Amino acid sequence: MKRVFSGARPTGKQHLGNYLGAIQNYVRLQAEYQCVYCIVDLHALTTLEDTRDLKQNIRDMALDWLAAGLEPQKSIIFVQSHVPEVTELHVLFSMITPLSWLMRVPTFKEKAKSQPHNVNYGLVGYPVLMTADITLYKAEVVPVGEDQIPHLELAREIVRRFNTLFGYVFPEPEAKLTTFPIVLGLDGKEKMSKTAGNVIELALSPEELTEKIKTAVTDTARVFRRDVGHPEVCNIYRFHKYFNPSQSDEIAQQCRTAQIGCVDCKTVIAREINNALAPFRQHRAEFAARKGYVEEVLADGARRAQAIASETIREAKEKMGLL
Ligand code: SF4
Repeated sequence: MKRVFSGARPTGKQHLGNYLGAIQNYVRLQAEYQCVYCIVDLHALTTLEDTRDLKQNIRDMALDWLAAGLEPQKSIIFVQSHVPEVTELHVLFSMITPLSWLMRVPTFKEKAKSQPHNVNYGLVGYPVLMTADITLYKAEVVPVGEDQIPHLELAREIVRRFNTLFGYVFPEPEAKLTTFPIVLGLDGKEKMSKTAGNVIELALSPEELTEKIKTAVTDTARVFRRDVGHPEVCNIYRFHKYFNPSQSDEIAQQCRTAQIGCVDCKTVIAREINNALAPFRQHRAEFAARKGYVEEVLADGARRAQAIASETIREAKEKMGLL
């Protein structure tokens, strides 16, 4: 079975965008691969200046992953900094990575623009740490969206350079291109994200979720109930596509002919989303009630990850003449 690695920043309680994108994909991959899923807290430090919520965010994220169907018996689920070998490999790779490779990475330029007061060293080295994340576990496959392909290509270049200079240690990770649905937030404009403040969290109660949905922006051309709508520009309609596929054509037709109003349409979709999330909520409540459960899962994941990592780092250091 090939090994997959994927990491996600600890963003706390997960939202519908995370669920329809990364999380559902993570759950599916467990059937085909040996999966290593990492909460990359060190990466978070490249942009986080206030770390007070970090610990709680890690716990919330892990809890949501488990409730959504990540299985600790099948997958290795852990926190990046709990396996310190990753920082060692990061240093080793940093010695063979030309600065020019890192300076041309588009996300570095974007971040430097968006946080000019905090263009830190970690931000430049981000792709090197990412390469260490993947290769420490000798992962062969990395699920990526199209925008992350340049990062993975850089990781492959670093791996090739290491293997050429010192001898083969690391497989070149391959991209498993995954198209994630773009889920817009409650404002109907921006991608759903905590930063944009437009999220619908998975952990909401059914009542809270219904209330949130009521506040969602729909087709702004529909001012009165009699106005015909344009489902293709409406975010609520997108949710019908994901959560109510059997009725979505009918809803579109009723919207275009003003047979259904936005209030009723939202009531229907809130009910469908609540139905879809019922098992998630049940599992979340069960896991949250088991004192220490999440911590145990993460500790066990770190132990299993470290068993692989310590072997890899030994091999790399031997090849480099450090041992
Ligand atoms: Fe959107 Fe539904 Fe309103 Fe049409 S009826 S604009 S799909 S919320």
